[in-house]
Amino acid sequence: MSVLESIHIDGAWRTAAAGGTREVLDPADATTLAVVAEGDASDTDAAVAAARRAFDEGPWPHTPTAERAALLRRVADLLQRDREDIALTESRDTGKTLEEGRVDVDDVTNAFRYFADLVMNESGGRVVDAGSPDVHSVVVHEPVGVCAMITPWNYPLLQASWKVAPALAAGNTFVIKPSEVTPLSTVHLVKLVIEAGAPAGVANIVTGAGLPVGQRLAEHPDVDLFSFTGGLVSGTKAGAAAVAGAKKVALELGGKNPNVVFADACATEEGFDTAVDQALNAAFIHSGQVCSAGARLIIEESVKDRFVAELVSRAQRIKLGRGTEDGVECGPLVSQQQLEKTEDYVASALAEGAELRCGGERPQPSEVRPESGYFYAPTVLDNCHRGMRVIREETFGPILTVESFSTEDEAVTLANDTEYGLAGAVFSGDTARARRVAARLRHGTVWINDFHPYLPQAEWGGFGKSGIGRELGPHGLAEYRETKHVYENLRPAPVRWFAG
Ligand code: NAD
Repeated sequence: MSVLESIHIDGAWRTAAAGGTREVLDPADATTLAVVAEGDASDTDAAVAAARRAFDEGPWPHTPTAERAALLRRVADLLQRDREDIALTESRDTGKTLEEGRVDVDDVTNAFRYFADLVMNESGGRVVDAGSPDVHSVVVHEPVGVCAMITPWNYPLLQASWKVAPALAAGNTFVIKPSEVTPLSTVHLVKLVIEAGAPAGVANIVTGAGLPVGQRLAEHPDVDLFSFTGGLVSGTKAGAAAVAGAKKVALELGGKNPNVVFADACATEEGFDTAVDQALNAAFIHSGQVCSAGARLIIEESVKDRFVAELVSRAQRIKLGRGTEDGVECGPLVSQQQLEKTEDYVASALAEGAELRCGGERPQPSEVRPESGYFYAPTVLDNCHRGMRVIREETFGPILTVESFSTEDEAVTLANDTEYGLAGAVFSGDTARARRVAARLRHGTVWINDFHPYLPQAEWGGFGKSGIGRELGPHGLAEYRETKHVYENLRPAPVRWFAG
């Protein structure tokens, strides 16, 4: 298999300078999907130098807003042109279903359009009353400079776009490093940004590992902003290296997300069916490899038995298989490592007293489920509690844990009992209660009677150890800008502070 020229620096596609390569695997059968360039520190330095030049000397930071917005809209159109192609790439690379891949492309298209609209609707600088008619004082926003972007493997295209779209809208240049596990859709995205007309050096990509490429980006003195999406351990390590160089830092890290279900949500058959269906979706979409996965079901004691019985029966009917096959509802885990991590979490939970209600094993191979694929059955663990590792840590697999409560206060305490704080939901038939509980949840996104939807115009990010900063929404654009106060004296005169 020939090596894909997956590194793009200063307008040219190429392989790694030192000749490094990496096989990208199809998680459905562990065969090789592609061989990409494995960049190293020297490729990274070259990419940062190109981005630096393009920012300091190139036209992009000074390109009129309307032209930058037009480029974003062209990227959106190109994403739609290549929708099937990208969705297929994403499905084969990550294991998610083809339909999920299509949804990702549509969401990302909307994000590009949103940021184009956002910059076009801005009114320019904010005039400040300096308290004197002789002073004109204005606060303006400028691009931050060279942005380094690190992304994970679960939503490669989406996470890349949440960074690339606002960075370009604000007039920055960038170097992106996608996850070494799933780099293919990001390579495609950068191709579209180039095709849409980004000048040389504005959009650079280096494929390679966290060490050395990601770490080098975190440490590089010519990087102005380090924006990382991924796990807590690598994120804080890389973030610390970036802070050591006094860079601006944005971290989107993990989550351990509660789904609180009150008995009154299940008072009618329709309500019960909705809450069960949503709990299933919250935990098992993309085999639970979602930062906002509703992996902790926190359910009112009085409905627990009926609810969990129905949940288990439906979890057992989820159709597992290769994401590109018709009728498949859930794909494999992304890698052997992720599969083993899932097995380890289930084993530790059982050793700590959890009760296995379904799953807890690799499923039988079938026509749509090759034996060599990284499949794991949707797993429900009952009678879980705070003392268990499976409750405290992000498992990032198809594991749903069940805890129960008797009072509203107890539900809130359980839901907030996590070092993370990315997302959570409350299901209740009582609007006042639902809103009351939502107001007390310490999570960056709270859903009421729903799970997972997000909007490009609403900020995304976490409380606690789920990160620093926000993506999407106006704040998601502000992260890619510096703020400057320009104070203009319209009647210059000596100050005479010093007598001489
Ligand atoms: P990861 O932390 O292992 O890797 C993420 C990225 O960081 C990869 O590109 C990796 O190569 C790079 N990296 C690793 N070590 C590095 C280092 N020392 N310096 C610089 N870069 C380094 O995470 P993952 O397993 O790819 O993704 C799963 C994690 O991502 C989960 O914790 C999930 O919750 C999180 N995530 C968060 C969000 C969010 O919006 N908050 C979204 C998606 C995923």
